[in-house]
This record gives sequence, structure tokens and C-alpha cells, in this order.
Amino acid sequence: MTDHACPCGSGKKFKRCCDLYLSGQAYPNTAETLMRSRFSAYSMGNLTYLRKTWHPDTCPNLNQEDLETQWTRLEVVKCKSGLKRSIVEFKAWYTENDQEHVIHEISLFKLYKKRWVYLEALPGWSD
Ligand SMILES: [Zn+2]
Repeated sequence: MTDHACPCGSGKKFKRCCDLYLSGQAYPNTAETLMRSRFSAYSMGNLTYLRKTWHPDTCPNLNQEDLETQWTRLEVVKCKSGLKRSIVEFKAWYTENDQEHVIHEISLFKLYKKRWVYLEALPGWSD
């Protein structure tokens, strides 16, 4: 079951990639790894992990029904890592009614209690 390719597109097997994070054996030590693991969590409907990796100030009241999107592929476009804030630009594909769609987003991650968490989507790069 865990021997398939990781949904995050790393090219690694799931059990050697995001499964480590989703199962709680490890915590991502970079914003990009966190972003990838959150994509895997979205694609597998892992609500607990999404809550755990969301900044408490911005975490919405997510329900399992919010996770029904069929995510198919992730591409990390660009990352900018800081000591306390990091930005990851990505494209994520999903299918809906047999049509493929893509979202293009820039996400801001923040160090919170020494762990990277997702804060919010940004309108664009801000230097
Ligand atoms: Zn992965």
C-alpha cells in the first residue's frame, strides 16, 4: 500500500517520502518539504496532518468534505528560504468532471514553535 510513488512528485516511494511526515515519524525541516507533504496530505484526504501543519492564526475549520478534490500532480516552481519565513511557489493539478485544472499559488510558511507551518497564500513575490 505504501510502496507506490509519492503523490508529491519527488520521485521517491511514498514510504520513504511523505509517509514519514504524514505518519508522524518525522517533521519536515524545510518549507518545501512541508509544502510537498501537505500536497500529499491533500491528495490523500489527511485532515489531521493539514491541521497540524497550518499556523493556528490562519487555520480554517476544515472538514473532510473540503478534501474531496482529486489532486493529481505537483510542481514546485520556486522557493525562497529564510530563517523564519519561507516562500514556495507551486503549481498543483487536479481533475474535476474529467477535466484537468491547475492552480498556481505562492505560499508563505512561517517558523512556529521551531517547526515550519503554512501561514497563507501571497498575491505575489514580496522582497
Ligand atoms: Zn513526498
